[in-house]
Amino acid sequence: VIVLEDIVKQFTMGDTILQALDHVNFSVEEGDFVAIMGPSGSGKSTMMNILGCLDRPTSGKYYLDGKEVAGLSDDELARTRNAKIGFVFQNFNLLSKISAQQNVALPLVYAGVSEEERMERARIALRDVGLEDRLDHKPNELSGGQRQRVAIARALINNPAIVMADEPTGNLDTKSSYEIMDIFKKLNAMGKTIVMVTHEPDIGQQTKRILVMRDGHLNSDERLVHDYVQ
Ligand code: ATP
Ligand code: MG
Repeated sequence: VIVLEDIVKQFTMGDTILQALDHVNFSVEEGDFVAIMGPSGSGKSTMMNILGCLDRPTSGKYYLDGKEVAGLSDDELARTRNAKIGFVFQNFNLLSKISAQQNVALPLVYAGVSEEERMERARIALRDVGLEDRLDHKPNELSGGQRQRVAIARALINNPAIVMADEPTGNLDTKSSYEIMDIFKKLNAMGKTIVMVTHEPDIGQQTKRILVMRDGHLNSDERLVHDYVQ
């Protein structure tokens, strides 16, 4: 689904150039379930932003479903991203003034879906994550785990093939983290491709494979996870 070839991402800060991704080669297959681990500052979020087409690499090639995205305009890139990728974040990124159902329905506003259909699809998406009895709750009336389930329902509302999650359990207690992982595992079993960043070995171990980042390099030696120190 996604192929990265020799990806470099640099950030220029005044006179210094910081190489956040240093010639990364990596591919994600359809049906993959990948955890990206590694120390703080090693480039995991930078990697996720490139993988999710939220940012462009400084150099290197990125193919999404066989198509190189460097040739796409920003608008085309945004459209491709909205069609193919759903995002889940550590801090949920929900709008606080509207209900769970309205939050989940929001991406469909931009897709031009009628209000009636939006609400029905949002209800089904919330039912699928076990929150049918919380449709009218606002984010601050929900637990952390429930908020993250709302965020997952929102990420799935456009039926993307790929779900990208940056530390989705980073703000959750152990029980809620495992519930969120159960949802990801179920989605993966249904055919979704999932890429997630996590600091927690117990969470990473529940995916199909673990990649470890260090200083902008990616190492796919799965044994490294046992050496991993936060
Ligand atoms: P954490 O585990 O703390 O979230 P991370 O592995 O996600 O860390 P990144 O956020 O990818 O790390 O950052 C990698 C490096 O790139 C860091 O040294 C960071 O300071 C730098 N960096 C990231 N984003 C930017 C930016 N927009 N401008 C300048 N430097 C950046
Ligand atoms: Mg990060």
